[in-house]
Amino acid sequence: MIIVVSEHASDAEVERLIGDVEARGVSVKAVQGEERRVFGLVGDVSEIDAEGLLRGGLVEKVMKVSAPYKLSGRSFHPEDTVVTAGGAGTDKAVVGDGAFLVAAGPCSVESEEQILKIAQDVKRSGAGLLRGGAFKPRSSPYSFQGLGLDGLELLKIASRKTGLGILTEIMSQEYLPDFERDVDVIQIGARNMQNFTLLREVGRLGKPVLLKRGPSSTIDEMLMAADYILMPGKAQVILCERGIRTFETATRNTLDVSAVPILKKRSHLPVMVDPSHGTGYWDLVEPMALAAVAAGADGLVIEVHDQPARALCDGQQSITPAVFDSLMRRVARIREALS
Ligand code: PEP
Ligand code: MN
Repeated sequence: MIIVVSEHASDAEVERLIGDVEARGVSVKAVQGEERRVFGLVGDVSEIDAEGLLRGGLVEKVMKVSAPYKLSGRSFHPEDTVVTAGGAGTDKAVVGDGAFLVAAGPCSVESEEQILKIAQDVKRSGAGLLRGGAFKPRSSPYSFQGLGLDGLELLKIASRKTGLGILTEIMSQEYLPDFERDVDVIQIGARNMQNFTLLREVGRLGKPVLLKRGPSSTIDEMLMAADYILMPGKAQVILCERGIRTFETATRNTLDVSAVPILKKRSHLPVMVDPSHGTGYWDLVEPMALAAVAAGADGLVIEVHDQPARALCDGQQSITPAVFDSLMRRVARIREALS
């Protein structure tokens, strides 16, 4: 619910009004308003009597927000959000409202030599973040599960040597302190998009979070998941379309390119696209990356491996540094054409 306060209301009256609403267990968030004071009411608003608010005279307008998400929606926050990541000693990674960001790197961190070489290569081609899984959500318990905290240490070495910030996935609350200290953008993987406890806990850290779309999730479900992260009022969220499960078997997932303009319309959050998981095949990565950019994506997440045939995870969808370099040039041309 959104309320627009009358221009005649005094600050003390507005404060009392907010207090009354909050006393009913609903949190009140100020919305950017040009002339009027506008507030968004978040939580269970069933106890809030809209008619009563209007009769009181302090409230000029009450708008019921029908969307099941609020904090990630445009009605609460009409302007595009810009997410900035990167601690001391790391390059600033900025995405949203015209700032374009590419995160690139292997599916999994495998060794110091591997992650460092790939980090240097993708940085040279213009990547702004280093991606790489240390904790891997594998469908089979017999597949490589990632190097865990040792992988995080290797990402830190590569980050220190290249200046690239780290994007990596958290799977368990157990490692929240490590991620808070060492990771620039925390990834919530597709499989955990509806792990609501994890979403809430990650939201409390106040760090940038990349939220990947669940393989069987609707766009609205993704935005509701983003609200869980945003609820503590601290985190910055980047949405990521990474393909959904459909009846099509020619690709690993069906990359839903239409999700990009839909998300941009419904939400103020930046939208990145992962054509690697979105297609599952290295030769489809570039065409779908270009399509995503043409559709208005604010950034890309791309799997790059120097020896895809030897990769411990997702080699078939990983492109080489040389292919990544050419992709980046073509992405720049599409962006130029659109400007
Ligand atoms: C990944 O980015 O390595 C990953 C596992 O992605 P997703 O959660 O989209 O499958
Ligand atoms: Mn992968």
